[in-house]
Amino acid sequence: MANTGKKKTALLERTTVIDTLEQEILIQEESKQLKPSHFIRDRIYTDLTSGNTPKIITRFPPEPNGYLHIGHAKSICLNFGMAEEFNGFCILRLDDTNPTKEDTEYSQAIQEDVCWLGFGSATDTSYTSDYFEKLYSWAVYLIEQGKAYVDDLTADEIRNYRGTLKSPGCDSPFRDRIVEENLELFANMRAGVFTDGEKVLRAKIDMKSGNINMRDPVIYRILHSTHPRTRDQWCIYPTYDFAHGQSDAIECITHSLCTLEFADHRPLYDWLIESLPISSKPKQIEFARLNMTYTVLSKRKLSELVSGGYVHGWDDPRMPTLRGMRRRGIPAVAIRDFINRIGVARADSIVEYEYLEFCIREFLNKTADRRMAVLNPLKLVIENYPNYMEEELEATNNPEDSSAGKRLVPFGRELYIEHDDFMEIPAKKYFRLAPGKEVRLRYAYYVTCTGVIKEADGRIKEIRCSYDPESRGGNTPDGRRVKGTIHWVSAKHSVSAEIRRFSHLFTVENPGAEDDFLSVLNPDSMKVISGAKIEPSLSNSEIGRPFQFERLGYFTSDPDGTSVHPVFNEIVSLKDSWKKLQK
Ligand code: ATP
Ligand code: MG
Repeated sequence: MANTGKKKTALLERTTVIDTLEQEILIQEESKQLKPSHFIRDRIYTDLTSGNTPKIITRFPPEPNGYLHIGHAKSICLNFGMAEEFNGFCILRLDDTNPTKEDTEYSQAIQEDVCWLGFGSATDTSYTSDYFEKLYSWAVYLIEQGKAYVDDLTADEIRNYRGTLKSPGCDSPFRDRIVEENLELFANMRAGVFTDGEKVLRAKIDMKSGNINMRDPVIYRILHSTHPRTRDQWCIYPTYDFAHGQSDAIECITHSLCTLEFADHRPLYDWLIESLPISSKPKQIEFARLNMTYTVLSKRKLSELVSGGYVHGWDDPRMPTLRGMRRRGIPAVAIRDFINRIGVARADSIVEYEYLEFCIREFLNKTADRRMAVLNPLKLVIENYPNYMEEELEATNNPEDSSAGKRLVPFGRELYIEHDDFMEIPAKKYFRLAPGKEVRLRYAYYVTCTGVIKEADGRIKEIRCSYDPESRGGNTPDGRRVKGTIHWVSAKHSVSAEIRRFSHLFTVENPGAEDDFLSVLNPDSMKVISGAKIEPSLSNSEIGRPFQFERLGYFTSDPDGTSVHPVFNEIVSLKDSWKKLQK
């Protein structure tokens, strides 16, 4: 792994000095060996080596009508990743052709999220609205060529005339308008003479085509709505089909990578490129979208969760949005690693959520500092530890990374341990604390339970112990062994905190397949623990910095918290529940 990283850095350094095609191909050859192959990488590689394409240009084209989710991350990693790998470039294009649904809030968030994920910068950002004038002139061109006409049918009528998968469509009575009339009507559409829906511009292709997308698709519609960027300059807007391929052409995109649902649009994409006076010939290539268990990856559904108050916003840590995952504390590197590992295929599939968790754990295990926190505190008093005494004990920050160093943790006579780490009548194979039993306190001493103090109702209030002063640091001179090691915090020095633990947002694997996805929401997807006790060093921790709370899981500080009342989100538990790996 480390070797591969070094090799890649060396490769990247070399890419800056290459100047001949031969060298470039050599580098691509090497680069290809470092990554698992997939059909898009192979296709790009072939296009570059055959000389068809001197340089690749890709784009990621989200509509700014919501926040990005992990499905988008797949497309981002693919588009930016391929460009990076093959020394080309990738444009972030905000596909802003529907002012009724879009907002600058989303555009900004999308740009930030792409950067957070590790790709792109402001200079690579474009907007479809930058091309409205050009797109308009191409629509006029199509009319002039007899390949587009203004239709007066209503949206419902157009739908009825379109036919079905089994039956052909029929021509609109307005289909044979002469070019001059179409030009005038289209100019009047632009001039604001008509109301929304009164007229549309349609490409004139074939109402009998086996592909419904080729049955005279609408390419311009009237929307009297203020656009976030072009304001009231336009009241007609190109449809996705008309804007998309043409924007690709304007930007000289070589490989237009999109999800499978657009495969049926490809003939239209190609028809438009061929019918217009365009020299650049982008190619649309489809791949399977990312689906994940126990969540939904559709902006519409995610938006319903937010507007219905089922979650606390787009950045709720339970949301599969990049915002939500970021707030939850999931590192961008782990998301990229996950996307890289699941690969790119042509067939739809559903990836287990646990696989993402596995990637997160793998990354955090190597990088996150360890701390101690007690979620369900039970007081432990060390009777033979003097009242006046306090110590600072050395704890390792990260056993996986010696450069992470050590820290000092305060220790005293009164501690908190987890309720679960004590059993008055221990079960079989219970190696934690129980009356008369000895355990190791992590980084501290051996303690033996000497008594239990109870509330009037019988609940355990606190436990009493004695400690072995010789066992400081976790070992005894006599080499005595204990089976259990438990974590703790000092009662006097610890800070109270709120901890939010999460489980799946839905109770079924494929909520998107339900008639009503809201009916399978998990009512227990968030559990708030208000009386946790954390090590003092955690009270001012940076938002988003991940920690492993020893024996519990990975956590990060949430912006809802303050230094007086810290709030932590659980990123992922420690337990590896990704069953398949254990097979
Ligand atoms: P949604 O279904 O969530 O509304 P969308 O496709 O409408 O998503 P866009 O903003 O149009 O959202 O998407 C931008 C790009 O991201 C498109 O190229 C789209 O194919 C891709 N994309 C969207 N969802 C996924 C996904 N689940 N997996 C992979 N790529 C995706
Ligand atoms: Mg879309």
